[in-house]
Amino acid sequence: MKIGVIGAGQLGLMLGESARRLDLECLFLDPADQPPAAAVGECRRAAFDDTDALAALAAECDVLTYEFENVPVDALATLDDIAIYPPLTALSAAQDRLSEKQLFEDLSIPLAGYFAVDTRSDLDDAVARLGLPIVLKTRRFGYDGKGQAVIRNEADCDRAWDELGGAALIAEAFVPFDFEVSVIASRDQSGDVAVYPLTQNTHTDGILDTSVAPLDNGPLETLAGDYVHRLLDRLDYVGSVALELFVCGDELLANEFAPRVHNSGHWTIEGCRCSQFENHMRAVAGLPLGQPGCEGYSGMQNLVGSIPTALRDSDSGFFHDYGKTERPGRKLGHLTVVASSAEARDGALAEISKIVIQSAPGTVPGT
Ligand code: AMP
Repeated sequence: MKIGVIGAGQLGLMLGESARRLDLECLFLDPADQPPAAAVGECRRAAFDDTDALAALAAECDVLTYEFENVPVDALATLDDIAIYPPLTALSAAQDRLSEKQLFEDLSIPLAGYFAVDTRSDLDDAVARLGLPIVLKTRRFGYDGKGQAVIRNEADCDRAWDELGGAALIAEAFVPFDFEVSVIASRDQSGDVAVYPLTQNTHTDGILDTSVAPLDNGPLETLAGDYVHRLLDRLDYVGSVALELFVCGDELLANEFAPRVHNSGHWTIEGCRCSQFENHMRAVAGLPLGQPGCEGYSGMQNLVGSIPTALRDSDSGFFHDYGKTERPGRKLGHLTVVASSAEARDGALAEISKIVIQSAPGTVPGT
């Protein structure tokens, strides 16, 4: 079976590696020259909205999937002769923060208060109704904390409006969360669902820095599993999904979902018998899901901007290099540790993190 994958970044690379083990062939489409997934399959170079290139991809493949959530839904909707998973209803809901939040509400998944903001007076209304602080975000095309601003006072309002006004926006109540988690799950074409252990995530400058799992918190696991089941079933979803949540005491508030494999699930490659990538490919190809079978305590450190030589050469974990050139803020690789206890995992991650911080550009060694 040949699977057309739209997007050929590191997620495409990891999907392609799983596909190979399942004896599935991947054909990728991406605007970049020599993207990471070129290491595991043929890549066609084209823009994501190039309907001719998408049609050519569809003509050569049995089914299509995507690893990037900003592929234009309209362009994909022109392909009516081929199944596309996850379904376009999921892609479309996730592309607009307003429809995403309406979906959560409709599914009785708790979330922070929000208002759509199209004009400066909408922003004043949102501040009056939600109170300060709030987070103002673009409804579309935000990622890694881009396209958003925290508003704590009147002056911030002016600054945030100057920066973001003009685009369709959404104002959200600021959530004083304890920490952030994501729940990753996969659903196959018969409706069977596999849920991975809850993952705790930390971010630096809006970019995922570390993920650890499992959380060993039964009540939160149950809640998250329930919420992600509701989401998958409503969307008649096929593939892997990530639902990102804020932990507030014993409650979970939904932030957003990604209709694709997710950075916070990279640890499932070595930490589970069947990773999020393999289960995504199984679901898309019409195969039954594998049991996640996660054992031990896993942790992942993202390698952003540069890859420290000390980590490349060490045996401190499972090292993944996406083969990209270094650039500030660019995700270049990651390292996963799997340990027999949470303490051992956290200790290993702390050592790795020290090396990452010491070798960050601009850091003076020894300080
Ligand atoms: P997002 O692009 O919505 O995932 O936001 C990026 C990061 O900003 C999140 O991972 C949080 O750390 C923070 N954030 C987003 N929305 C809120 C909110 N309503 N309250 C507090 N922090 C937020």
